[in-house]
Amino acid sequence: MERQTDCREEMKMEKKKLEIVLAQPRGFCAGVKRAIKIVETAIERYGRPVWVLHEIVHNTHVIKNLSEAGAVFVEDIQEIPEGAITIFSAHGVATKVEKMALEKGLKVIDATCPLVKKVHHQAKRYNKMGHDIIIIGHHGHPEVEGTLGRVDGDVTVVSTVEDVRSLVITDPEKVAYVTQTTLSTDDTKELIEELKNRFPNIKGPNLNDICYATQSRQDAVRKLAEEVEMLLVVGSKNSSNSNRLRETGESRGLPSFLVDNADFVDLKWFDGKSTVGITAGASAPEILVQDIIKMLDGHFDLKVRAQNGKKESMQFKLPLFPDFQ
Ligand code: SF4
Repeated sequence: MERQTDCREEMKMEKKKLEIVLAQPRGFCAGVKRAIKIVETAIERYGRPVWVLHEIVHNTHVIKNLSEAGAVFVEDIQEIPEGAITIFSAHGVATKVEKMALEKGLKVIDATCPLVKKVHHQAKRYNKMGHDIIIIGHHGHPEVEGTLGRVDGDVTVVSTVEDVRSLVITDPEKVAYVTQTTLSTDDTKELIEELKNRFPNIKGPNLNDICYATQSRQDAVRKLAEEVEMLLVVGSKNSSNSNRLRETGESRGLPSFLVDNADFVDLKWFDGKSTVGITAGASAPEILVQDIIKMLDGHFDLKVRAQNGKKESMQFKLPLFPDFQ
């Protein structure tokens, strides 16, 4: 018995030391928690299947679990049968999608994040004031498509400073911008500065549309960059805010990798590293972070500590779940 204990101790001694620093905050934001809860509650209340337009949040693990529970995810509203229980994803939808849902008699519960709704309202308000609207964001992302589809009239999406330089605006005195909620705060700052250079009277909300969760997760990575040699970001490839976290790490000189789960972690990345940071995108569940730690514990003499960061208390109320007839 004593000999066995000695062997285990010796094996542990052979393992390389590795310190993991967990970003604080990381993972699920209030909008994602609310959206997932809406799907779970709808399945519980109305039975399966519940149709969801777009991935409710951009995470493979979440989508797999909810699909198993009875959610059916589709990219086109035409795929949803008439009269079916339907949930709009956290990213929001265009006005025409709401109209189509009405025509099909869909029983809709809207899981659009309240912070995305705020951007819709801002865009509509500027639109009513007769302004050309500029959306700072990524073309093709469901949130940007939803915001685009809230505005009648001239609206342009810009993603780079070059896009801003080549903008053609009807009246430079009547122009306003809004931003996608999950952008890099560094990049957005640069774009807003360029917009203000070109259109000194432009209206817009400064950086306030970058949501609190995007902002605080990126800030945590910036701080983490001062104490680690590499960064793992847990999140799916199509998650905008997870990609931005990886870019934030990279822009601070850290080798940074986006991984969906522990299976995607390459141990070669850890060669020559003794301190590694882990964060998770706003749509990535904590269990995936813990799985990675478990996996690493099998290969390293691991020490795990949490960054001394911000605590989050934001919560969004659930919508009403009507008694659909
Ligand atoms: S990242 Fe922000 S805007 Fe997006 S769902 Fe979360 S709280 Fe809402």
